[in-house]
Amino acid sequence: MKQLSVYKCYNKIAVMGGTFNPIHIGHLVAAEAVRRELGIERVIFIPTGNAPHKENDPMYNEHRYLMTVLATVANPYFEVSRTEIDRTGKSYTIDTIKELRLKYGEDCNIYFITGADAIEQILTWKDPEELLSICRFVAVTRPGYDRTRLEKAINTLKQKYKGNIEFLEVPALSISSTDIRNRVAAGKTIKYLVPEAVEKYILKFGLYFPEYPRSALISHINEDLRNILTPKRFKHTQGVAEEAVKLAHIYNEDEDKAYLAGLLHDCAKCYTDEEKLQLCHKYNVPLDRVIKKQPDLAHSFLGGAMAKAEYGVEDEDIINAICYHTTGRANMSLLEKIIYIADYIEPNREYFPGLEEVRQLAYTDIDKAVERSLQNTIEHNINKKRIIHPLSAAALEYYREENNEK
Ligand code: ATP
Ligand code: MG
Repeated sequence: MKQLSVYKCYNKIAVMGGTFNPIHIGHLVAAEAVRRELGIERVIFIPTGNAPHKENDPMYNEHRYLMTVLATVANPYFEVSRTEIDRTGKSYTIDTIKELRLKYGEDCNIYFITGADAIEQILTWKDPEELLSICRFVAVTRPGYDRTRLEKAINTLKQKYKGNIEFLEVPALSISSTDIRNRVAAGKTIKYLVPEAVEKYILKFGLYFPEYPRSALISHINEDLRNILTPKRFKHTQGVAEEAVKLAHIYNEDEDKAYLAGLLHDCAKCYTDEEKLQLCHKYNVPLDRVIKKQPDLAHSFLGGAMAKAEYGVEDEDIINAICYHTTGRANMSLLEKIIYIADYIEPNREYFPGLEEVRQLAYTDIDKAVERSLQNTIEHNINKKRIIHPLSAAALEYYREENNEK
């Protein structure tokens, strides 16, 4: 077979095949150990064509592929191949190895890396004898696998099928993709079990989360907020979420929605003014005259946009509750009023004049509580020589009239 000249000439390449659903550090550590031990020049990660439980979902294949790219991009010796992902119909390892042979030529040594669990299954793969004759295998140790059983399996393949198989002890990492998926679904952390970019990717696309109301997603948002907010702001956020649930219970609003809106209401608060303005540009948040002069006000509208883009919140009422939690506005929905008031009265707030009065009103007449807190806030801002946002002025006028008519 002639080597195609467009491909770089290598003496030793290794294939790391897997579903990578998702890729985790167990895969990376094993691949790097093999590369170093055997002097491999290139490790090619090849995600399989079909994820076991999302068989015909091309989007899912794309997610597995992209996570593999994100995980390997920093290692100059690693690359990712789409060959199996793009193959129509059933995808077999033997076809992939033959393709690589054609690409890299007869003289290139091709190693196929498998964990202890996979090596036992080789005989169930398509054309195992031919496969064993056209590439070498490296069986890496994997926690939970019996060493003697693994050695026995290797010996059988060597003796019966003349397979070229090496055994390599790699650092024992008791991690599997199944475990990662289960942890995400249960709301447990996967930090340091997968590369950070993969963790972020899973969160961004809500992969492996159960359907809404996604308690696991909420745990992840909590963990994310713990990292991006100051400890004091994080505590305040928790207080607002809990207070919002309490108010939702009293006024018959959806408690899950109230919790989520409360949790995310300040998600954009801890950026600098400059960052806020840049992020507003990125997320297409319009800036009016007042916000331009007082960029901190942008955090509410930016928070709404980020809740949608970064945390997958689609409910318009939740997004509006986040957007208007600082300025308020005339004719707010019940959820908007709940978040506005929860932000004002949450239990971690330090004492300020007027707080107790609004707290009491909050549990009996939310519209009066809104009017009172708007009035207090406007007075406070006038004293601080801040410009009053027209939305707040309109809101106060609206609730004054509403309450007078009652
Ligand atoms: P799943 O739980 O979905 O089966 P997995 O963690 O086994 O996922 P795969 O994509 O099936 O991941 O594995 C690809 C290859 O990597 C297999 O050969 C597997 O044995 C090996 N491998 C996976 N995790 C480890 C690990 N922690 N240590 C060593 N090898 C591993
Ligand atoms: Mg597996």
